[in-house]
Amino acid sequence: MNNDDFRQWSARAAEWGADYRNSLRDRPVRPLVKPGDIFKSIEAAPPETAEPMDAIFADFEDKILPGMTHWQHPRFFAYFPANAAPVSVVAEYLVSAMAAQCMLWQTSPAATELETRVVDWMRQALGLPEGFSGVIQDSASSATLAAVLTMRERALDWQGNKKGLSGQARVRIYSSDQVHTSIDRAIWVAGIGEDNLVRIPAAGRFRAMDTVALEAAIVADKQAGLLPAGIIACVGGTSTGGTDDIADVAAVAKRHGLYLHVDAAWAGSAMICEEYRHFWAGIERADSIVFNPHKWLGAQFDCSIQFLRDPESHVRTLAIKPDYLKTHGHDGIVNYSEWSVPLGRRFRALKLWFLLRAHGLDNLRTMIRNHIAWSEGLATRLAREPDFELVTEPMLSLFSFRHQAPSGSDPDEHNLRLVNAINDDGRIYLTQTRVDGRVAIRFQVGQFEATAGDVDTAFDTIAEVARALA
Ligand SMILES: *Cc1c(COP(=O)(O)O)cnc(C)c1O
Repeated sequence: MNNDDFRQWSARAAEWGADYRNSLRDRPVRPLVKPGDIFKSIEAAPPETAEPMDAIFADFEDKILPGMTHWQHPRFFAYFPANAAPVSVVAEYLVSAMAAQCMLWQTSPAATELETRVVDWMRQALGLPEGFSGVIQDSASSATLAAVLTMRERALDWQGNKKGLSGQARVRIYSSDQVHTSIDRAIWVAGIGEDNLVRIPAAGRFRAMDTVALEAAIVADKQAGLLPAGIIACVGGTSTGGTDDIADVAAVAKRHGLYLHVDAAWAGSAMICEEYRHFWAGIERADSIVFNPHKWLGAQFDCSIQFLRDPESHVRTLAIKPDYLKTHGHDGIVNYSEWSVPLGRRFRALKLWFLLRAHGLDNLRTMIRNHIAWSEGLATRLAREPDFELVTEPMLSLFSFRHQAPSGSDPDEHNLRLVNAINDDGRIYLTQTRVDGRVAIRFQVGQFEATAGDVDTAFDTIAEVARALA
């Protein structure tokens, strides 16, 4: 492709993107395809000769598009959102065009310095105190892995990376039973082992971990000669929004000298609104906090910020400084590859800069407040229906519910069938979870372009499909 073609096809792609966005409300949120359909439609062997772009683009529209789940669809109420505000897509076009590898300050000074600046903008926007610095990671999973590695190294007096874990004291990490599976995987990958992730029971409306049980577990482990290293708390867990009492957890962490990482991957975005910050009161005492602007806030995937109260132990855990990577003679230079597990880094700060400037915090706050109000409205409406029950009350914009199964049929099977039927209907997209062992249907509003009318459509769809099934 020469530069003239590049110009033409880039323009065509941008046109296509705008048309695509305009068409979303008319498309089913989840595609109506069977496993293997798309695979079978793609040539089995790679092309020996060049093909014209027209043919490639036509196949994209004919073969790929019908097999896409539309995450930017205004009636996407499943999982958590992965919003890509149009302005952040524009920034990503520019990032793609420059295609810089931003591992070191000198490999892209602007990417590094803008990252420092927008991370600090987000710190202010979330109401975190001065002194927190941070880095943009690819995902919350990576941030949590980095935090777990830091916990391990601190506890092992920096000997884990060097000597490995065999022969060392057994490192122990604590979390509630509501945390995301990325915590399990961080524990596996860090070599700590799932048996050493101590799950503290959670209770109450927000399923907060029992901090008395937490402290008892730490004390018991110390007495048994094990090595408590850190605590992972969550604000807005994936299943039903489980939220720990961060101040209480931080007090336990402090008493025992443990590193505290807070996973607020989804809920962190809501903290741009002061009235929701009570959900993470005490957050200033965390050592590490992760939140994903690529979820609710609107920065195109991927963009996950990890805030650090003191980056020293984090960087000491992760930095490798082979000679060929050294940036000589520049004091005070930040090389963000020393703050993450992967070496190579995309320029992720640009889309956040574009997003925050084009929307302003006030518009983003309005969006979040609307989502929460609409979600609460829908929860209230469903709770009033005789054949629906709320399973968990709204935590920000997430709640879960269940439909009464017809007599004689299994409630779990009925609700699983209901989710499938709702999703096959195409107007909306939902996912399910288990609460205390029983199936519940999750609902969250978070899509950038969702309206109150879309949430009304959700009510109609849920009620109609459920009654047709029962
Ligand atoms: C989405 C989510 C994660 C995982 O985020 P990735 O960026 O996909 O790794 C972790 N924790 C919580 C609470 C989440 O909602």
